[in-house]
Amino acid sequence: MTSVKENIARCAEITASDSARLDTELLLGSVLGRERTWLYTWPEYELTAVEQQRFEQLLQRRQAGEPVAHLIGEREFWSLPLKVDPSTLIPRPDTELLVETALEFFPQQRLRVLDLGTGSGAIALALASEKPAWQIIAAEKSPAALALAEENRRRLALKNVEMIQSDWFSSLEQQPFSLIVSNPPYIDASDPHLGQGDVRFEPLSALVAERQGLADIEHIAAVAGDYLEEDGWLMVEHGWQQADRVREIFTAVGFKGVASRRDYSGWERITLG
Ligand code: GLN
Repeated sequence: MTSVKENIARCAEITASDSARLDTELLLGSVLGRERTWLYTWPEYELTAVEQQRFEQLLQRRQAGEPVAHLIGEREFWSLPLKVDPSTLIPRPDTELLVETALEFFPQQRLRVLDLGTGSGAIALALASEKPAWQIIAAEKSPAALALAEENRRRLALKNVEMIQSDWFSSLEQQPFSLIVSNPPYIDASDPHLGQGDVRFEPLSALVAERQGLADIEHIAAVAGDYLEEDGWLMVEHGWQQADRVREIFTAVGFKGVASRRDYSGWERITLG
């Protein structure tokens, strides 16, 4: 029999991750149906044979590279527990900057918001949880991702988000929005980052865009005007070296007051116009 404490020490076996201890705690918590903090209140708990076997399997799959979020089927975003699976991007802490920026720039109680390419629903649901009176439409092309986003919406009981299947704007009615947000794919197909870590298990359609990663941002910026109020705003996440180009794209299609926002490492990762 092996205790919780001894199993946490097994993190040394996960050499393929730079967050091995956290990973191990999340896997162990998931096997035991407990929060991570519980592991430290009962470190001497001895796992049953079934629990131990399940943990061994997860540990092995993690060492082989599978993302923790896929192994436990969940990832926290903006303090919300979101279900995730291989049909969508795993929500990133980086994207919380977009949510934070939207909440800061738009103190209004009421707002019509569109989230393009919602994936697991992360951005739309985070905004909805903070702003119950905002009316939010979340568009997603992939039926599997859309189903997941809708399940997340239901689990969180957020009534002010409507999920719609749409390839960017293609199936949306032309009602004006005050704010359009998106975390589109923006990585170039040749980026070596795509061969490393969790991204290997995520859909390329959520990561990669043509034209050095800018094709989808170009498309969104070009069409957004038709769906925005006169003084409406577009806000996108992009790569750390793309801010200059994204500002040019926004300006070229007629956005005024274009600005970028830096993340905690000092990189401009959000552009709004
Ligand atoms: N920031 C993510 C990554 O580096 C990519 C997210 C995206 O393409 N929208 O893996």
